[in-house]
Amino acid sequence: MPKKKITELIVGTNNRGKLKEIKDLLPNYLKIYSPLDFKIKSPAENGKTFAENSSIKARYFSKKSKLICLSDDSGLEVDLLKGQPGIYSARWGGKKGDFKKAMNRVFRELNKKDKNWKQKKIRARFVCALTIFSSNKKLISSIGKIEGSISPAMKGKNGFGYDPIFIPKGKKLTFGEMKASAKYKIDHRFKAFKKIKKFF
Ligand code: IMP
Repeated sequence: MPKKKITELIVGTNNRGKLKEIKDLLPNYLKIYSPLDFKIKSPAENGKTFAENSSIKARYFSKKSKLICLSDDSGLEVDLLKGQPGIYSARWGGKKGDFKKAMNRVFRELNKKDKNWKQKKIRARFVCALTIFSSNKKLISSIGKIEGSISPAMKGKNGFGYDPIFIPKGKKLTFGEMKASAKYKIDHRFKAFKKIKKFF
């Protein structure tokens, strides 16, 4: 635990959707920077797990900015696709981060596995690994998950990434159709954040 409460930090992501969501989880008194403020590009994510990639980003951005860094690595795991896209979730959107393309790829891969997948419950989950790095030392890592299923069609314009095709367990709407405030209270990032809240 750092001696003093954290008063400023960099959120280690160049993804605007994530940045917004993480900012909403953090207390208002914090001065929050992002790699965009320092024009720091993202490092190569060559870890094998969400936790490894989250650590790689936290170490890198804290070193580059000389600030405490909170970083997130997250993605969608689809059971019928053996956990894909998983840590490759962002990469399925291509260089331009085109999430329509990424969601269409999920549909294509599901079609290849089972032509009737739209009539079935396709189990999936979002996973988020958060890491805090300070002065080249890892302070904490945490994982949060939310279970759900894949919608047979893209629905809703809220959120980012795969939100229009993810229906959280026990709900009828996709994350893309839910209000941001409703999503933030139940999602993988919120669950991971709950475990590291004590640092703020
Ligand atoms: P990362 O920047 O490598 O961690 O990429 C994570 C990717 O996973 C994002 O670009 C999204 O495609 C996807 N993802 C993570 N969290 C969410 C979410 O809350 N909603 C929708 N997609 C998400």
